[in-house]
This record gives sequence, structure tokens and C-alpha cells, in this order.
Amino acid sequence: MRYSYQREVIREIICSTKSHPTADWVYSEAKKKIDNISLGTVYRNLKTLEEIGSIQIIYDENLIRYDGNTEEHHHLKCSDCGVLIDTNLKSNFDEKDIVSKYNFKPEKTKFFIIGKCNKHK
Ligand SMILES: [Zn+2]
Repeated sequence: MRYSYQREVIREIICSTKSHPTADWVYSEAKKKIDNISLGTVYRNLKTLEEIGSIQIIYDENLIRYDGNTEEHHHLKCSDCGVLIDTNLKSNFDEKDIVSKYNFKPEKTKFFIIGKCNKHK
């Protein structure tokens, strides 16, 4: 019971922001709500939430970030401040081409368009 409450708090923290937070940020927010929560507990719940499809993991170069937007989507990334902006842009290649040209079976497509956000252009 206690564990699912912690998981729900963590899910809400991630879904309440569009900032694509790191585990450390989620941990500092979670501590405001649950005094004795540990970083290990936060990581464990992040993993479970990802496994059950409640959040997505984003591999942003050497950072692991979490996304409450579970729709298939791509991101714009500012090369100055690192902000990630959700898009509904579609990739314009055909999965069948990838299979036939590269003998590779795609499962997920994630791309970043790197550029400058409106504060840094
Ligand atoms: Zn996103």
C-alpha cells in the first residue's frame, strides 16, 4: 500500500511538469511530500512506472530524463539551455524501408531536433 502511494506521488510529479526531469529532480520534489523517501525508492518506482507504461524514459545524451507524455513523440532540444520541447512531428520514413535496407527491425523511433529555443536564438 505504502509503495503504491509513493509510486503515485512520483507519477504525479513527473506528469505535473513538461521539463522532462531527471531522477535527482524527481527525488527532491518527492522529499517535499514524503519525508523519508530514499533515492533508491525513487529509482525503483521510476523503473516500475516505465515498465507499466505510465511514463517514458528519454536518453538525452548522458542524461536520463523522464517524460509524463506517454504518446509516441519527438523533441526539440535547445543546444544552449537543454530544454526539451514536445512535438507531434511525424517521422517521414517507412519502417518497411528500414527492415529491407538495413535488416533492422525498428521498435521505437525517438529523435531530437537540436537548435535554439526562443530565449537563445
Ligand atoms: Zn516529451
